[in-house]
Amino acid sequence: MREFDLIARIRERVTARGDVLLGIGDDCALLEVPVGLQLAITSDTLNAGVHFPPETRPFDIGWKSLAVNLSDLAAMGAQPAWCTLALALPEASAEFVDGFLDGFLELAAQHGVALIGGDTTAGPLSVNVTAHGFIEPGQALRRDGARAGDEVWVSGTLGDAAGALSQWRSAERVDPTLRLRLDRPVPRVALGRALRGVATSCIDISDGLLADLGHVCRASDLGARVDALPTSAALQAAFDPEQRRALQMTGGDDYELCFTAPAACCGAVLAAAEAGAVPVTRIGVIMRGKDVQAIRADGDSWKPPHAGFEHFA
Ligand code: ADP
Ligand code: MG
Repeated sequence: MREFDLIARIRERVTARGDVLLGIGDDCALLEVPVGLQLAITSDTLNAGVHFPPETRPFDIGWKSLAVNLSDLAAMGAQPAWCTLALALPEASAEFVDGFLDGFLELAAQHGVALIGGDTTAGPLSVNVTAHGFIEPGQALRRDGARAGDEVWVSGTLGDAAGALSQWRSAERVDPTLRLRLDRPVPRVALGRALRGVATSCIDISDGLLADLGHVCRASDLGARVDALPTSAALQAAFDPEQRRALQMTGGDDYELCFTAPAACCGAVLAAAEAGAVPVTRIGVIMRGKDVQAIRADGDSWKPPHAGFEHFA
């Protein structure tokens, strides 16, 4: 296998979209942006050993590399459309590329996303994906829109992926339900779309709730108080309450949406959750001040052992 064989293998499997005038094969892709919409663009890299355990299945690496990007589009309320894929591979393995594409293209098909180009190089295993979506002017869910008194919500449950990683790191048996949450995050695209005009701010949780809600607070020049956390049965069974709280507050890799909305919009938030086919939980409130205060069930405030994942930290 050589570079061009690998690219041909990828090209063979991509599906068409009417707005892709020219896809894989030339120096650039040519795309038609719908009149009246804006482009939302995001890029994320997964490095072996940093973003996933080295023995992760190719299918899951493919799935996750697209999922984390679609999650960013979801967090803006954008509708996914296209993506590019820059692959660095230690060897030109058809088996790896085929498995990778199985996962990548399954998720792409679920969201009608077309793979329109990329780059293929030799190097330590690394996957960079750039995703493009459409958003109606003025409708993007930004980090800087939270207002004092808004309620803070999250989708799904928190801490599951971090729980799997913690079990994997300590060489314990990894619970399969938790492992699935680490390997196959589900981007909350339909929820993000349904929150347009309802949420005042939104972010996807990749680095841990405290860190990511902290970004919303800083961007909005406000603080927040968090006093509830949605917990899966699998996490509850595997960790004690203290460990759980640390995983849920600072663990990261959840790819759930954290958003704010005025208390009066509670009904609209629940309707958006219904449309997005994912439960949502009210976890706190936006307040004057700065930083995120975490409150335990006994009313005491909780200080994290560390704030969340940061590269170079
Ligand atoms: P160039 O040298 O002009 O950048 P390449 O030889 O790198 O072109 O790529 C040839 C074509 O294949 C381009 O259209 C490029 O976008 C596409 N391509 C290369 N690698 C990938 C990949 N991993 N996934 C999707 N498309 C790819
Ligand atoms: Mg190139």
